Amino acid sequence: MSGLELRNIVKNFGAVEVIRDVSLHVNDGEFVAFVGPSGCGKSTLLRLIAGLDKPTGGSIAIDGKDVTAISAADRGLAMVFQSYALYPHMSVRENLAFGLENTKVAKAEIEARITDAARMLEIEPFLQRRPGQLSGGQRQRVAIGRAIVRRPDAFLLDEPLSNLDAELRVSMRAELAALHARLKATMIYVTHDQVEAMTLADRIVVLRGGRIEQVGTPLELYNKPANRFVAGFIGAPH
Ligand code: ADP
Ligand code: MG
Repeated sequence: MSGLELRNIVKNFGAVEVIRDVSLHVNDGEFVAFVGPSGCGKSTLLRLIAGLDKPTGGSIAIDGKDVTAISAADRGLAMVFQSYALYPHMSVRENLAFGLENTKVAKAEIEARITDAARMLEIEPFLQRRPGQLSGGQRQRVAIGRAIVRRPDAFLLDEPLSNLDAELRVSMRAELAALHARLKATMIYVTHDQVEAMTLADRIVVLRGGRIEQVGTPLELYNKPANRFVAGFIGAPH
C-alpha cells in the first residue's frame, strides 16, 4: 500500500500519555494539516513520523514498509521547523547543501538543486549571506529550501509560519500552496491556525489531548463537525 500509515501510535513521556492510539493513513501527494490547541501532541506526532523520536507503541509504515525502527535519515522525509534551525556560521548556500555533501548525490547535482530551489523561493540574491543577515521570512524560505533540495517523498512542517508577521504569513501561505502544486509531494503540516489549515489542506486532522477527534476535508469539518470541540476549533457554527 502506498502512502504513510500510522497504526495505533502511543507515546508516553514518563507516566504521561501524550499520544493515545492514533491511527491515520496519508495518501501520496496529500496535504494534511494537524490542528489542535497547544500541548495536544502535534509536534510529538510529527517527530514520531520523522523518526526523531520512537513511539512507545504502534507502528509506522511508508509505502507498505515498516519504518518504525528506521532512522530519520533513511525515511525519505524532510522536516521544517518553526525555529528555522539554520546554521548561523554558514552561508545560505552552505545551509542548503549541508547534509547532502556526504551522500551519493553528485556535486553538480547538488548545485543544480540549490539553484532550482533558490529560484523557486526567490532567495537567489541571498545565497552568500548568513542567516543573521536575513529577515524572518527569508530565513523561513531558506529552511523550506533546505528541505526541497533533499527531494523528499514527504515534507513535515511544524508551524513553519508562526514566527512571521500576519501579512507575510498570508503571502507565504499562498507560496506553500503553489509549492505543493509544483512538487506534488506529501505535506504534513502542523499549525494551531485553523485558517491556515482550512485554506491549505486536503484533509485536516483535529487533535485534542493526544487523540484524533476528527479527520476530514475542510468542508466536511465545517459542515459536519463531530462535536462542539471540533466546531469551535475550526470556527464552524454549532
Ligand atoms: P503541541 O505541538 O501540540 O503544542 P507537543 O507535541 O509539543 O504539543 O506536546 C504534547 C505534550 O507532550 C505536552 O504536554 C508537552 O509538555 C509534552 N512533551 C513534549 N515533548 C516532551 C518531552 N520530550 N518530554 C516530556 N514531555 C514532553
Ligand atoms: Mg508544537
